[in-house]
Amino acid sequence: MKKHNFFAGPSILPDVVYEKTKEAIDDLYGSGVSLMSISHRSKEFQSVMDEAQELFKELLGIPEGYHVLFLGGGASSQFYMIPYNLLQTKASYLNTGTWSNKAIKEAKLFGETIEVASSADKKFNYIPKGFDVPKDIDYMHITTNNTIAGTEIKEDFDFGVPLVADMSSDILSRPVDVSKYSVIYGGAQKNLGPAGVTFVIVKEDILGKVDRAIPTMIDYRTHIAKGSMFNTPPVLPIFSTLQTLKWLKGLGGVEAMQKINAEKATLLYDEIDRNKLFKPGVANPEDRSLMNITFVMNDEYKDLDTGFLTLAAERNIVGIKGHRSVGGFRASTYNALPKASVEALVKAMQDYEKNM
Ligand SMILES: *Cc1c(COP(=O)(O)O)cnc(C)c1O
Repeated sequence: MKKHNFFAGPSILPDVVYEKTKEAIDDLYGSGVSLMSISHRSKEFQSVMDEAQELFKELLGIPEGYHVLFLGGGASSQFYMIPYNLLQTKASYLNTGTWSNKAIKEAKLFGETIEVASSADKKFNYIPKGFDVPKDIDYMHITTNNTIAGTEIKEDFDFGVPLVADMSSDILSRPVDVSKYSVIYGGAQKNLGPAGVTFVIVKEDILGKVDRAIPTMIDYRTHIAKGSMFNTPPVLPIFSTLQTLKWLKGLGGVEAMQKINAEKATLLYDEIDRNKLFKPGVANPEDRSLMNITFVMNDEYKDLDTGFLTLAAERNIVGIKGHRSVGGFRASTYNALPKASVEALVKAMQDYEKNM
């Protein structure tokens, strides 16, 4: 398994997460029963759930009045769960890419949905600035990290309205002021754990304001009331997520992680800017994602694309082919990706340039 793994999701996890998960598949906490086969009501699994929620709160500094849920359905199910629970008349969305677009499509089923700004005019390669957010809305929705285009919103906005954020691909990569948000959600498979679990951080006082009837499983209040155990939760991905949280805490938490992530991203962006063969997917340094770094061949070297992928493969670098909607390359530099992998990619870029 010794590849430099730049896949965008599912993606690389810390080695200790694989090890601990393997152990628990054999025997969860000395119970003599596999993690996959023990009741989710057992004291062993209950302690996994409790610890994962507590550690999530601790690492992100989540204030009182918020709940951490671990649900199924992927971030994509949150695209409808959010408006189902929160949209009474009007909501507004910032359109920064494929995932925002999908969220907007679902919101339109529930009420008036205003797109306050969009970067669709330039294939989502920047974050719109200076837009107005109406005050008479139920909530404003943003996607903080745009996994496909490689842009990222790195500040915590304060629009004076409830803020909802899809943080699927940058959760726990840096500190966030959770008190500025009403809901933060995302799929685990980018920065947290294996696919199958979706985290939702929800502020209790935002709920109960819509008139419509909400199916039991879609109502956040159901899951809050039962400590995220109303039905069988995705036990294995939750266990692995807990191991990632412990690893992150051991590393010094989100502040330490942010520094490491910035170092890795700087290394790669500097090479993209320097190397004559390549150019960045996102021109404005302020808008560049620290998690998904997109780049393409400069126009005069366009036909050298596949050659670079071949060289990368020879050097055990996997997952750098760009998303089909963007082309070129994308290196996902999530929390668990070692700096050595970024160095290997940079070296491959330098060597490819030398041999031209
Ligand atoms: C991957 C991704 C999603 C979709 O997540 P699923 O868990 O596959 O539904 C949504 N939003 C963002 C920003 C993503 O990166």
